[in-house]
Amino acid sequence: MPKQYIASDFGISPQDLGQATLTTLHTLQQAGFDAYIVGGSVRDLLLGLHPKDFDIATNATPEQVKRVFGRHCQIIGRRFQLAHVYQDRHLFEVATFRAPHQEHSAKSQTSAQGLIMRDNVWGTIEQDALRRDFTANALYYNPQTGIIWDFANGLTDIQHKILRIIGNPSDRYREDPVRMLRAARFAVKLGFELEQQTAAPIAHLAYLLKAISHHRLYDESHKLFSCGHLSELLPLLHQMGLFQALFPLLDDNIVQSPLVQLAAQNTDERLQQGKSVNPAFFYAVLLWDWQQQQAQKLIAKGADYFPAQQTAAMRVLNLQSQSTAIPRHTAQTIREIWELQPRLATPKSRLVPNLITQPRFRAGFDFLLLREQSGAQDTHNMAEWWEHYQSVDADTQEKLLKDLDKRKARAVAKEKAANKAQNKPKRAKKPKDTHALSEAQQP
Ligand code: ATP
Ligand code: MG
Repeated sequence: MPKQYIASDFGISPQDLGQATLTTLHTLQQAGFDAYIVGGSVRDLLLGLHPKDFDIATNATPEQVKRVFGRHCQIIGRRFQLAHVYQDRHLFEVATFRAPHQEHSAKSQTSAQGLIMRDNVWGTIEQDALRRDFTANALYYNPQTGIIWDFANGLTDIQHKILRIIGNPSDRYREDPVRMLRAARFAVKLGFELEQQTAAPIAHLAYLLKAISHHRLYDESHKLFSCGHLSELLPLLHQMGLFQALFPLLDDNIVQSPLVQLAAQNTDERLQQGKSVNPAFFYAVLLWDWQQQQAQKLIAKGADYFPAQQTAAMRVLNLQSQSTAIPRHTAQTIREIWELQPRLATPKSRLVPNLITQPRFRAGFDFLLLREQSGAQDTHNMAEWWEHYQSVDADTQEKLLKDLDKRKARAVAKEKAANKAQNKPKRAKKPKDTHALSEAQQP
């Protein structure tokens, strides 16, 4: 039996939903359908948080929703059909109640491994609740009646801060392995404990993510990076084997690297300050060491510096895209951030004004700064220089530019000396051996 709660007992009122949400629900209800807000938005309201959007569940089919909203509605998706409804400049995802999937029907399809390929069989609200992912995400609120419906004991779990998957955990992960990523993300984001049986099968089943569309995995990776608790989430993903499933070719220790940790903290702080984050930036961070290693290999084989960097970047981005399909414009941004690194680390003074107006300057500079702060030597402390340069008036900037060429000459000389010192023993070896030999040959 479902439980019913009175929303106002939990301090929730219809006004919390905003006028556009109320109008959308009301329009569906006026047309004779049931309509509720569902999922994350009800969960967040119960937690006293501000939902970032309101998802709607209804017994109207996507075609019926389309008929109600006309040109303000678009039906999207194949695997999981949804209606997008536009209301007062807000977008609502309106999902029709789903029934348990049947194995051999045109509307629902399950692979031999238990993966749901299509999930478009309509059902009742009770059925819909039980095929949602976690108990905390299976609550329905109708502001018209003021009632919250709870079919999976979600309210108790929310109150105890427990994230519990609905049904048999292994089966539910096999149906949709992305639920494992969602489990880790929600646990960290909400500060919930992953219920033991919900967590237990993940390490064994993480490999199933390989069967998921690479485009969907890219979208999920973006949600992971921008959940606001990336510093905490990364070690958890790693511990559960989920990080490796998304980034199979990365060094296993990468999540502990100072650059990655610092960038994760930085990403979380930006989000906390209400700033946006570009997924390209964190991708650039994660893949940086790998790209550098590939470039070094090419250089060792005789390639020139810049072509080696470019080829390595293309190679790394293509290989990673076989796991998470990085969109073309994001890959372009990542390459631009990387390309700026040597240019910002050893700039010619006359190119400084031009560099600073580049569209990617900010991202490139932020990246240089994080590298410098995490101990990279080949930035030559230039992130600090750029920071200073941006903060002073035009006269001082001119002085800084004059100093820059001297500074560059010093850096080049220092690097040459360091290279020489490094190469010395090798070069010295030959004559020394010869000498030793000739000495031994001496009577
Ligand atoms: P967020 O705050 O990240 O938006 P959310 O819970 O609203 O969290 P959505 O991805 O917006 O998450 O999905 C809305 C709801 O749809 C979820 O709360 C859940 O009930 C259901 N859902 C989403 N993805 C899945 C899935 N892979 N399997 C089962 N149910 C899902
Ligand atoms: Mg949502």
